[in-house]
Amino acid sequence: MRKPGRQLSAAAESHSGTRSTFALPPWIRLDPDPEIRRAQYDHLRNNCIAAPLTSLVVALTLCAILGLLIDPTPALTWAGVLAVALTARASICFWRPRTEPGRDRWCLVSLHLALLTGLIWGLAPLTVPLDDFGALGVVLLTMGGVAVGMLPILGFVHGAFTTYGLIVILPSLVILLGVGLQGKPAHLGLGLFLIAFTLNLVRTGDVVTQTFLSNLRSRIAQTIAAEHDPLTGLPNRRKFDREFAAAWTLAVRARTPISVLILDLDHFKEYNDRYGHPAGDRSLRAVAEALSRQLPRASDHVARVGGEEFVILLPTTDAEGGQVLAERLRRTIEALHIPHAASPVSPWLTVSIGGATLCPTLATSPNALLDMADRALYTAKRCGRNRVAWFPMEAVATSGEARVCQSR
Ligand code: GH3
Ligand code: MG
Ligand code: MG
Repeated sequence: MRKPGRQLSAAAESHSGTRSTFALPPWIRLDPDPEIRRAQYDHLRNNCIAAPLTSLVVALTLCAILGLLIDPTPALTWAGVLAVALTARASICFWRPRTEPGRDRWCLVSLHLALLTGLIWGLAPLTVPLDDFGALGVVLLTMGGVAVGMLPILGFVHGAFTTYGLIVILPSLVILLGVGLQGKPAHLGLGLFLIAFTLNLVRTGDVVTQTFLSNLRSRIAQTIAAEHDPLTGLPNRRKFDREFAAAWTLAVRARTPISVLILDLDHFKEYNDRYGHPAGDRSLRAVAEALSRQLPRASDHVARVGGEEFVILLPTTDAEGGQVLAERLRRTIEALHIPHAASPVSPWLTVSIGGATLCPTLATSPNALLDMADRALYTAKRCGRNRVAWFPMEAVATSGEARVCQSR
């Protein structure tokens, strides 16, 4: 969020797959990009009850159909075992991890329980006489449907659908080829058909996974681009408003203060007129970089909200702390020593800063705090620029006028 130019490149980095890959068994790979992993988790979670329930209904229907053809006792025993595994698979919905590693573990467990149910499905042909082509055909058709039915769910994770499909089909394949090679051409033919079916399944799964991930990546890239300023790489007003609203809610609940700084470069129009627009752009980037470097706390947010205006959000920061930081930022910008011969204030490019602090309540709004900081900025400009002005908290209830001008 805070390092200019980093947000966009970090996203690009993750899309090119250069981040460290989350350690999972080679047969299932969650994406290395945390945002995509989060989407994968959400997708698995959204289906964690519906998928096992559907599987159970299909298994019971299969038992009912087999009951019309053969003795259903082995199939019912098999369905009982499957029901236990499906219940375990559904019961992890009650586990609600809050952290990223916790969500990764949840995915790992959920996917392996899905593979376990796949293995039980794979053993379904053992419940029917192998010479009864009617019963065997019903079982194989059902298994194929179950395998394909998992595509919209497991197809979102690298390797998961392929592994599931192979686990479901391989036992039948081994059985059919084994019987077929003992002189039963019909079983051999069915085995060969299963090989073709499996190859098709694997290929379809691969296409679905690639399509899903590339759609997700472009959606994430669009969101990042929509929320960042392309010149400096800093978050823009839109993202700032989102962060501000979230910080505000937290502060209301925790009853902690929030400080806001609005920074405006001094005589920047003259700077552009003197040195040219490209030099102005370079200076904006340098200022953005310097501001970000001065904000090591993860909760602090800086954004570019106008041409040469920046805003900084400082959650859990009182007026005293905010003023100290504001003065440090002012000095930092001046110490960049960006020549500004057209400025009547300083030989260097400088910044004026208006700040304000509030203890948010449900009756106040982020805009009120921004308005206070804006008034303080106006005061800083009026008092001579290259300085910090602070909106006193008590002024909110009284005159509403920003009136403190701190000297340099
Ligand atoms: P003040 O000290 O009162 O803030 O004066 P100012 O000249 O900085 O303010 P003013 O609002 O008159 O002008 C802002 C200037 O910022 C005008 C515009 O050319 C420049 N500016 C805005 N966005 C950009 C940008 O993206 N790149 C460059 N190079 N200049 C920009
Ligand atoms: Mg301005
Ligand atoms: Mg300005």
